Amino acid sequence: MVHTAFKSLALPDERIADVITALIDALGPEGTLIMPTHAGWDGVYDHDSSPSVTGALTEVFRTQFSSLRSRHPTHSCSALGKMAREAVAGHEQGYAVGTGSPCEFVYEHSGQVLLIGVDLMVATIVHLAEFYVNVAYLCARQRRLRNDDGQCVTRMLTRQPGHSNGFVKLEPLLKQYGHIRYGSIESASCRLFDARGAVDAAVRMLTDDPAALLCDDPNCSNCNESRRLIRVEVNSA
Ligand SMILES: [Zn+2]
Repeated sequence: MVHTAFKSLALPDERIADVITALIDALGPEGTLIMPTHAGWDGVYDHDSSPSVTGALTEVFRTQFSSLRSRHPTHSCSALGKMAREAVAGHEQGYAVGTGSPCEFVYEHSGQVLLIGVDLMVATIVHLAEFYVNVAYLCARQRRLRNDDGQCVTRMLTRQPGHSNGFVKLEPLLKQYGHIRYGSIESASCRLFDARGAVDAAVRMLTDDPAALLCDDPNCSNCNESRRLIRVEVNSA
C-alpha cells in the first residue's frame, strides 16, 4: 500500500505514470499494489467518476492503469496485481477502514506500507487499529451516492474514522520494534513499514490509552471532539 506526495519527488507531472510503473515493476508478478483513492465527502459519490482526493498519483493510478477500485463511497482503494480482485472485494459491505476493507486485506496478508515524501499522518491503515479497539470516537456519517441504477441515495456509514495527524506518535514504537525502514526515492524521503507490526503496535497503544493517537493541536476540533467522546464513554462505563 503506497501513499505519495508526488511533489516530494521533484519530477515533472508527465512522470507520474513512470513512478507507478516503477512501483509495479518493483513488486513483480507476485505483488499487489494498492493505493488509497478516497473520494472525500463533497457532492454525490459516483464509483466511476468521483476523483481520488488522495493525490495526483492516485488519480492516475485509478484512471490510467487497469487497477480495480473498491466500492466504498468514502474510503475506496484501487489495486493492481496478483491479488487485486481479492483486495478490493466486498468493501461496499465492509467498513471504511475496518472489517472488509482493503486496509484489512493488507494487514491480513502481512503487506507493507510505503510512504513517499509523507509521514505516518497519512497512513490510513493505522485507522484499522482504532477500529479493532473500537475507540469511542468512531462516528456514523451520512454519504450521498449514486447507486448501480443511477439513482441518488443516502447511505449511513457507521464507525467512520477521525483525524489522523496524531498517527506520527506511532513512529517511535515502530523504530523500537524494527518495523520501519528509511530510504529515499529521487529527492523524496521514504518510510517502509510492516502493516501487521504497525497495526498491532497501535492496538497496544490504544488499549492503554484510547486518546494515544489523537493530535496535540489544542485547536483541532476533530481531536477535541474525539477526547470528549472518550470521556463520555469512560463516565458511562
Ligand atoms: Zn487532530
